[in-house]
Amino acid sequence: MSTTVPSVTLNNGVRMPQLGFGVFQVPDQETAAAVTTALEAGYRSIDTAAIYGNERGVGQALAASGLPREELFVTTKLWNADQGYDATLRAFDDSLDRLGLEQVDLYLIHWPAPGRDRYLDSWRAIERLAAEGRIRAAGVSNFQPAHLTRLLEHSALVPAVNQIELHPALQQAELRAFHAAHGIATEAWSPLAQGAVLDDPAITAIAERTGRSAAQVVLRWHLQLGNLVIPKSVTPARIRQNLDVLDFALTDEELAAIAATDRGLRTGPHPDELD
Ligand code: NDP
Repeated sequence: MSTTVPSVTLNNGVRMPQLGFGVFQVPDQETAAAVTTALEAGYRSIDTAAIYGNERGVGQALAASGLPREELFVTTKLWNADQGYDATLRAFDDSLDRLGLEQVDLYLIHWPAPGRDRYLDSWRAIERLAAEGRIRAAGVSNFQPAHLTRLLEHSALVPAVNQIELHPALQQAELRAFHAAHGIATEAWSPLAQGAVLDDPAITAIAERTGRSAAQVVLRWHLQLGNLVIPKSVTPARIRQNLDVLDFALTDEELAAIAATDRGLRTGPHPDELD
């Protein structure tokens, strides 16, 4: 199995592994074991968030791995209740403390939370953290085109990444086009739709042809689209399997067959509606 994960060069020149490991809904006590398995398998990018309550577990695994800091890429996120200029600075310090790090590679505003109307203030704090070198890249998550447009009107710092729900059943054509036009990298959360796309006949047919699992086919589709992708699993065999997608390719016909499976399915909240 080839484990050389390609990297994506973000709009500020920082390189980010295209395929990483997500830890949403993993209890803190189980997180260190899952992340250790992932690091042993060859993942170098880990995606957590303050609200997941498992930054400590992530930090323990990173420290125990003995891997040089510069080989790791760590993403965490600002929770909605901590939006605002001062609150963001405090929340960032708390995340660093729990992670046991002095810098994060990517810091994201987790949701726009439009009802709070604080994301411009939060972004100003993130600009400061970036200027101070405490974050290598700044981004957002769950921003719709209107939220991105407003951010771009108020700041010269273009988000490096927008992390959004994206999988074959929710392909996000409009946002992907917006990102491409503005130099924002698209990162897919729930890339497997939490399992909901794995029995789609178009996908299982490709799995049969390639001798791969449905999850591997879906992850390969993300990579060929150019998405950053962060599948989650606590199952060691799946953690390894999800990284073993670097040595096969889907044909144009197969990509088209998956393109036809979009059905607007959200597994999570609509970004306009979560505050
Ligand atoms: P995923 O789409 O990654 O799916 C995870 C589910 O799929 C788990 O139930 C897992 O089971 C199962 N699974 C994983 N690999 C396989 C496989 N090879 N075969 C069959 N089943 C498999 O969902 P997530 O919602 O966890 O999304 C991934 C990451 O995205 C999160 O962990 C988080 O880091 C990020 N995220 C960000 C959000 C945001 O708002 N920014 C929102 C949601 C997620 P098991 O673990 O039991 O093996």
